Amino acid sequence: MNHHPTDSSEVTSNSFREDSQTKTQKKRDDYLEWKDYFMAVAVLAAKRSKDPNCQVGACIVKDLKIVGVGYNGMPSGCSDDEFPWGKEVSNPLDEKSLYVCHAEMNAIINKNISDLKDCSIYVSLFPCNECAKLIIQSGIREVVYLSEKKPYKPKYMASRRMFLAAGIKCRQFIPKQDKIEINFTTNNNDIL
Ligand SMILES: [Zn+2]
Repeated sequence: MNHHPTDSSEVTSNSFREDSQTKTQKKRDDYLEWKDYFMAVAVLAAKRSKDPNCQVGACIVKDLKIVGVGYNGMPSGCSDDEFPWGKEVSNPLDEKSLYVCHAEMNAIINKNISDLKDCSIYVSLFPCNECAKLIIQSGIREVVYLSEKKPYKPKYMASRRMFLAAGIKCRQFIPKQDKIEINFTTNNNDIL
């Protein structure tokens, strides 16, 4: 029986050649930094939100692993089309804030580990006081935010006050790059 022993030896020598070629190449330096990646996940999640005025995303991280993602939206079963998205409207029952779950809440509830002790949360917008309470009570120890809207408003001042008292680290995120582009039409899978 002839099993073409030369075939297998060719395969071996070819893969060896490829391996040694790869080893001589320097790693790329235009890769996405962890922190930019986590904030980018928060910003991408925000794009799922149907809120006409404010899209917010959150990404919870533990030991460089994403353990929860969320964006602002209506509770499950409460239709995006039927529930109101209004703000400062004449009928108080049409105020979106009565219904919308904020990104931080959804990310915390969507967690895929048992508890969020010592996690960081990346948020595209500085958290309101209600989310600050959830963040503190969940065990999250660090808040990294991209932007801040009207910091003089009581709900944001209250957040700061609670974060400070609870010892939650809080810092504004400075991205390494201003823009990350995702292009589904370009084939950039240059792995081979
Ligand atoms: Zn909030």
